Amino acid sequence: MRKVIPAKTTVQLCQLVQISAHEPWSYTYSTRYVLGKPGIHHLTGKPYSLPFGEVQQFVISQGFNGRRSHQTLATKYAIDIDMPEGTEILAMRSGRVMEITRARLNNDKKSVPALQIRILHQDGTMGLYAHLKKGSIAVREGQRVRRGQLIAASGPSYKEDVKPHLHFALQRNAGMRLESIAFQIINFSGSAITPKLGLTLRHSPY
Ligand SMILES: [Zn+2]
Repeated sequence: MRKVIPAKTTVQLCQLVQISAHEPWSYTYSTRYVLGKPGIHHLTGKPYSLPFGEVQQFVISQGFNGRRSHQTLATKYAIDIDMPEGTEILAMRSGRVMEITRARLNNDKKSVPALQIRILHQDGTMGLYAHLKKGSIAVREGQRVRRGQLIAASGPSYKEDVKPHLHFALQRNAGMRLESIAFQIINFSGSAITPKLGLTLRHSPY
């Protein structure tokens, strides 16, 4: 059985009935869910803004299809931006905080779950900000956030050979799976660029 449950609603999915009053009974069930509305399309008139403040500059250490850890459907179009732990993270697009959780970004069972914020955009896509610092979350679930608003601070990577970084992915519900979507970002001079490995991101040319 598969059903789309609207936000903040309670829906009865099924009813269990005892077949015989004279026989012992038991039941088991399991559920699986994926956040977001299935089948939506990415609509943005504007590229995504930089997730950090003025006078800072950081380098993209893993881009789309990155070999280190951006190889699944949900991470294929993710980017990693190296930054020191504690860097203030700003929303790259307006929306509503959908979920604040700690989860693994890949199917890698050995990886440490990353603290993350998921923001729902008006078109139904979701922005995922991960590797956040414990105790730094500046928003709450259900809250509306504007582009450029402080949402948290960046945290550690939990891997000795990987520098602290922000992992960002734009995702959609593609029917019981999360799918990442390619996006553009506003780099200095207001130009829209496709984020690539090794690229320096900053607000102003110098
Ligand atoms: Zn990543």
